[in-house]
Order: sequence, then structure tokens, then C-alpha cells
Amino acid sequence: MRDKALSEDEVMCILEETRSRDFCYDRFFSTMCTRPHPIAIRAHDLFLETNLGDPGLFPGVADLEQQVVHMLGELLGCANVAGYISTGGTESNIQAIRAARNEAGRKNGNIVVPASAHFSFDKIGDLLCLEVRKADLDENLKVDLGSVESLVDGNTVALVGIAGTTEFGQVDPIEGLARLASERGIHLHVDAAFGGFVLPFLEGDWRWDFQVKGVSSITIDPHKMGMSTIPAGGLLFRGQDCMNALETETHYLTKARQASLTGTRSGAAAAATYAVMRHLGREGFQEMVNYCMDLTRHLTLGARKIGIEPFIEPVMNVVALKVPSTAEVREELMKRDWHVSMTREPNRALRLILMTHMTRENVNLFLKDLEEILRS
Ligand SMILES: *Cc1c(COP(=O)(O)O)cnc(C)c1O
Repeated sequence: MRDKALSEDEVMCILEETRSRDFCYDRFFSTMCTRPHPIAIRAHDLFLETNLGDPGLFPGVADLEQQVVHMLGELLGCANVAGYISTGGTESNIQAIRAARNEAGRKNGNIVVPASAHFSFDKIGDLLCLEVRKADLDENLKVDLGSVESLVDGNTVALVGIAGTTEFGQVDPIEGLARLASERGIHLHVDAAFGGFVLPFLEGDWRWDFQVKGVSSITIDPHKMGMSTIPAGGLLFRGQDCMNALETETHYLTKARQASLTGTRSGAAAAATYAVMRHLGREGFQEMVNYCMDLTRHLTLGARKIGIEPFIEPVMNVVALKVPSTAEVREELMKRDWHVSMTREPNRALRLILMTHMTRENVNLFLKDLEEILRS
């Protein structure tokens, strides 16, 4: 730090110049985040200085957080869930598995996750000293129940299913996993970080949430399809016991016990999530998901017209396109200022997320560029 102070204008000038070097959401196909809803930004600002780590000092926002948890529970089939607003999918997954491990009372256990699981589960294995066993996928990239069953043993503390995989947007057979978990008395965690705000608004009878007996916990991220501000994650447990399994004593705060992973934590994102959910309601979310799914169909149809097939028929607003020389094509697209990502081997594909910031116009421009690159 320098000795001499800079004026507010001077600092803001540096910040604005720096911010202009960031890329713009308009051409992002690679991210599961989006511009927050305007009301989320207003709520975030209003609660910026609140600290949910010391809820006795901020009973207002602590109450909002519990209301958000309740609304999320209602959305996912169980109104009286326990949980809290975390910093995102990673923290929610860590805490869900930590609760399962603590409840099982076993330290050197293992968890069985699909091969398609988010990389947060590798962090979890490391952090919690658990072996992470990866189950095979079937030809539709859903986890294979036989493979899961063969990996489960007496030291398994949790099974994980994914409702909306990060790479393909696929949904695992949660009812089958729930049967396996219930038979053996194992915790079943469903990672719906992305899909949690999508699946409730899709047609078709998706049985994946708390309505399925045997689902013990769910991760759902308001800062992805929930239109909230970063960092907003949701962790929900079917019952209070799991929350209790996470608690430590706090010696000098306004509440005697704390279940969250972080100590000091902002109430801003919880308030932002509350604001969006109240403001949009189911109607508003339905409209948004319809919009994203319409773009998804438009992109898939356009890709087929230029001879490109999706890896799987898109389930949600995630499209993985089979293009030859994927890495090179991606490179060329990036040169044209399209931000796209790839799925990992052995299922290499161009991965595109159709978020609310995307438009039909830009999908058309993208397809035109993609066609040109493939022809050259
Ligand atoms: C995004 C994602 C995560 C991680 O969430 P962060 O908010 O980035 O920590 C975990 N699981 C799935 C399925 C995801 O899509």
C-alpha cells in the first residue's frame, strides 16, 4: 500500500478502467451464472453490511434467510426443511457430505458419486479425508445404478446423484439411487446446483427432489438459475438432525452454536435471493425457464441444420455439441469473442449454456460463425 491517499474519483477511475477489461455476458455461453435480476442488486446493496455469522445482531436478515430456506424447500417438495444460504454449490456440497459423514460417525469412509460429478467432490475427498468412488455412466450419461451398487460397501457414508450435470445437464436416476440408499441406511445427497431452479419448471415428471423418500439433502444455487447475486448457494436437509451434525460451539457470538462453514458471512446474497423469489414468483421463473429452453431448442435445431448433433438430446438449457477437432474449433470461436467451454474426455464436446442473458440474435450470429469455422 502506498503512503499517499488517492481521491475517490481517482480510485474509481482505476476501477472503471479495470472493469472494462472484463468480458461481457452478452457473448457468454460458458457460464452457469448470469446478470443478477435488478431487484437482487437493490436488495444486495441494502443488506451489504449485514453479517449472518452473528445473527443475533441482524435478526432481520436472519429471518429473511430462513424464509428463503422455506421457499426453496417448498419448491423442492418439502416445506419444513432445515438449511442455510451458503456461498455456492461447492460449500453446499462440502457441508452436505460433512453432515453425512458426521452422522455416520465414520472417519475413513467413502462416498460414491457419478463420474459426471462436479469437481467440488474431489475437493471434498481431500478436505474430509473420504475416498471418492466414481460410478460409470450409461450411454445417456446418467449414472449406472449397477456400477453404484458395486462400489457401495460398509464404509460408504453418502451416495450422490446429480439433477442437472454441469457438463451435459443430465439428470441421474434419483429414485433408483434413493432405493439403494434407503435399503442400506445411507445418506443420499442430490446436487442440483444448476438444475434446482430449472427442473421444477420443465414439463415431464421428474422425480428427483424431496418428494422422493430417501433424498436426504439437496444443493441448489440461487446464483445460477436463481438470478440472485454471487455468492448465493442453497443447502437443504430433510430434517434438523443433519444441521445439528454440522454445529460447533461459538463462544462469543450472539448465538451459542453455528452450522455454517464460514464464520462471518454476508446477508446480502440471502436478501437478494429472497427479493428475486418474492418478485418473480413461480410465474416469473416459469417464464425464464421457458425463455432459456426456447433458446436451447433454437440452438439445437440450428446446429442440426449445419450438420452438428448434440451429444445427448438436451434435457435442460445445457447443450453439448459433437464437433470435430473440438479444441481447435473452440479456439477459433474464442478469437471471435464467443466464450464457450468443452466437456472432458472421453465425452469431448462443445459445451453451451443458454442463460437469460443470451438472445436469439446472438445464437444466430454464433451459429453463423460456427458454420464458417467448420467449413474453413
Ligand atoms: C456449479 C456447480 C457446482 C459448484 O457450484 P459453485 O457455486 O461454483 O461452487 C456444483 N455442482 C454442480 C452440479 C454445478 O453445476
